[in-house]
Amino acid sequence: SAFEYAPAPESRSVVDIAPSYGLFIDGEFVEAADGKVFKTVSPSSEEVLSEIAQAGAEDVDRAVKAARKAFEKWSALPGSERAKYLFRIARIIQERSRELAVLETLDNGKPIKETRDADLPLVAAHFFYYAGWADKLDHAGYGANPRPLGVAGQVIPWNFPLLMLAWKIAPALATGNTVVLKPAETTPLSALFFADICRQAGLPKGVVNILPGYGETGAALVAHPDVNKVAFTGSTAVGKAIARSIAGTDKKVTLELGGKGANIVFDDAPIDQAVEGIVNGIFFNQGQVCCAGSRLLVQESIQDELLDSLKRRLNTLRLGDPLDKNTDIGAINSSEQLARITSLVEQGESEGAERWTASCEIPSAGYWFAPTLFTNVTQAHRIARDEIFGPVLSVLSFRTPDEAVAKANNSQYGLSAGIWTEKGSRILAVASKLRAGVVWANTFNKFDPTSPFGGYKESGFGREGGRHGLEAYLDV
Ligand code: NAD
Repeated sequence: SAFEYAPAPESRSVVDIAPSYGLFIDGEFVEAADGKVFKTVSPSSEEVLSEIAQAGAEDVDRAVKAARKAFEKWSALPGSERAKYLFRIARIIQERSRELAVLETLDNGKPIKETRDADLPLVAAHFFYYAGWADKLDHAGYGANPRPLGVAGQVIPWNFPLLMLAWKIAPALATGNTVVLKPAETTPLSALFFADICRQAGLPKGVVNILPGYGETGAALVAHPDVNKVAFTGSTAVGKAIARSIAGTDKKVTLELGGKGANIVFDDAPIDQAVEGIVNGIFFNQGQVCCAGSRLLVQESIQDELLDSLKRRLNTLRLGDPLDKNTDIGAINSSEQLARITSLVEQGESEGAERWTASCEIPSAGYWFAPTLFTNVTQAHRIARDEIFGPVLSVLSFRTPDEAVAKANNSQYGLSAGIWTEKGSRILAVASKLRAGVVWANTFNKFDPTSPFGGYKESGFGREGGRHGLEAYLDV
């Protein structure tokens, strides 16, 4: 299959990276109106990968105008025609998945086995799934010709650059909207590669526009008067600023924000399986996952046994070159993110929690953080409350299921939770009391395009994925 590689470590020669890239507006790669550029760096080597045009307000206006013009024809196409384009994009993503996986790993720092086995298959799956909806909307109970919203302004983070793009672009296009998307400043490359895929698929000009840049570019896009729908994934602070900035307009909005997921392990849980789930829950993508299981809630009677097993397992994780297919822990995405993680971990220590770090060698170049866990954590500690967005697990204990639920729900966030137990009845009882958008049972971090995803409380509002993800782009 396209996802099977030779056993040798991947080399970046798999993908050609040009020394510079333009903005993608109206089907063409163009310079920024003011000529500004920024550099994108590989977080595992600190090597400059490419120089990227940086979109300003004038470019935002150009891109929104192109999307508006394209909207007339795109929204008038029969759904079956839009489906053909989306299926074509999905197939090209599969065909070029090896290049895309290497590119994403270089720009983001995440292990190739994750980009290869998780990100890329999910990206293709989202395009296939929403392609399948495009010609069925008329018969989905929305009445004939359910209306698209118009031009969608989409802003995404750096942790799953291509997957967040797929979550946003696939449902928008399936429902007849056109798109201006701003990738995160540290990971613009895969979105630009995707722009090339749109050209390869013959997608009409202006249907997808890609504008790399910093927060100001995102703010200008969100504020543009001719944007009808804002879709944002990122931090809660920026999500709130966006909500404030569009209050009083008629723009529709979905916000996918931060999290502080509780992974709850009961005393009857299969320990080995739970240990794997805890590791996957917080160390997948170096913990830079909005729905990470960053709080471990363990039943008191098994705490010592579980922590012993967990520490043994963490000492076997391999940290290093993310292009090596044996690597488990890649680089942190940026020096800023590394500084943020370091500062929260130092705060955890100063507040009296006990720090334990897995034994591994840290490479001399790049941004790295060894898998870390904290015990003696109370709910008052910042490491138990704030999203660290790094490979750091805070361990708390509980005695009864009610106490577990109360502790899990004691958070400003409500994005994800996990339950580990042999008892089916307990899974149902506990899950129904958790205020989290997704609850996994005896597994963690499983995703599927058919399932809606989103948060309670400060984890955001609106849902992406599944049928709910379509409704976020339609006037139903
Ligand atoms: P961030 O909020 O700093 O940035 C996200 C995006 O918003 C970037 O493209 C950035 O350039 C842009 N941006 C920054 N300021 C802006 C502004 N004022 N107006 C418009 N756009 C602006 O977040 P990040 O550090 O890139 O990502 C990490 C955060 O994203 C974490 O909190 C994580 O939990 C969250 N996240 C949530 C989900 C989810 O589905 N709920 C998924 C992935 C990440």
